[in-house]
This record gives sequence, structure tokens and C-alpha cells, in this order.
Amino acid sequence: MSTLASVRAAVGTVVDPELPTLTIEDLGILRDVAIVDGRVEVTITPTYLACPALATIADDIRAALAASGHPDALVRTRLSPPWTTGWITSAGHAKLAAAGIAPPPRSLPILNEDAVTCPQCGSTRTSELSRFGATACQALWRCDECREPFTHVKPH
Ligand SMILES: [Zn+2]
Repeated sequence: MSTLASVRAAVGTVVDPELPTLTIEDLGILRDVAIVDGRVEVTITPTYLACPALATIADDIRAALAASGHPDALVRTRLSPPWTTGWITSAGHAKLAAAGIAPPPRSLPILNEDAVTCPQCGSTRTSELSRFGATACQALWRCDECREPFTHVKPH
């Protein structure tokens, strides 16, 4: 089977190496999937220009497509318009919350960056512990109500 739908399904299984809870579709970085002259072409927009995860994501896309019968896929990068955290889908937000990660605000600009909601108890009495968490895209926060630390995906 070599329909666009099956190709899309294969690409849709690829997860973000930094936030493996999310597929690249959830994250909103998957811009386009096409079949041109029998060859699969995938276009992605990286979350950061120098995101080291980009090479991994491109490899994972090629591997997922090779496993579904498309060994010669081309992965393109599109930098404009730039990705923002506002591109994370509703499904992505739900998955982040379920994983105990505070999602970024739905829309930019951020009017009150301090209003980060605790994913455990929903309190907005939260404080930033560290500007940088596991990766540059994440920060470490703690809830002042339930005292639980949590990861916050920084808006940008
Ligand atoms: Zn809490």
C-alpha cells in the first residue's frame, strides 16, 4: 500500500526525541507530506534553528518510512514561518498534561509569563526553579501548593 494516507500514518508515529510523549504531528512541526514522482517528501519546521534533535527526527522519519516500504524518502526543512509553541495541537496539550508536563500557553504573545499552571493540582501558585530543564526548550518549575516539581515547555 502506497497511498498518501498510509505514508502520513507512518510519519505520524514519529515522536519528538526531547518530548517523546508527543509525535511530530502533536508538536506541530510536521508541515507537509507528499508523494512526488513516487518518492515520499516530508517537510518539517524545527522547533529551534539549531535544535540538535532535528537530525534525529529526520532519521526517525526516514526509518519509519523505510519500514513501511518507502526507503528513499526525502526530508526537507522549512524555516519560515518559524515554529512557535502555539503550533502544538490540542491532542499534544492533552498528552503533555497527562504526562505531568505543563504545556506552554495556547497563543502568543504571553501576557503573563508567571501564570504557569501546576499539572498536578491546577494551582497557578508556581515558581521557576531553573531556567533550563532537561533540554533548552524546557524549564524546571515547582508548585507552591502541592510542592511537586514539574517540567514546563517554555513558550517562544
Ligand atoms: Zn500543584
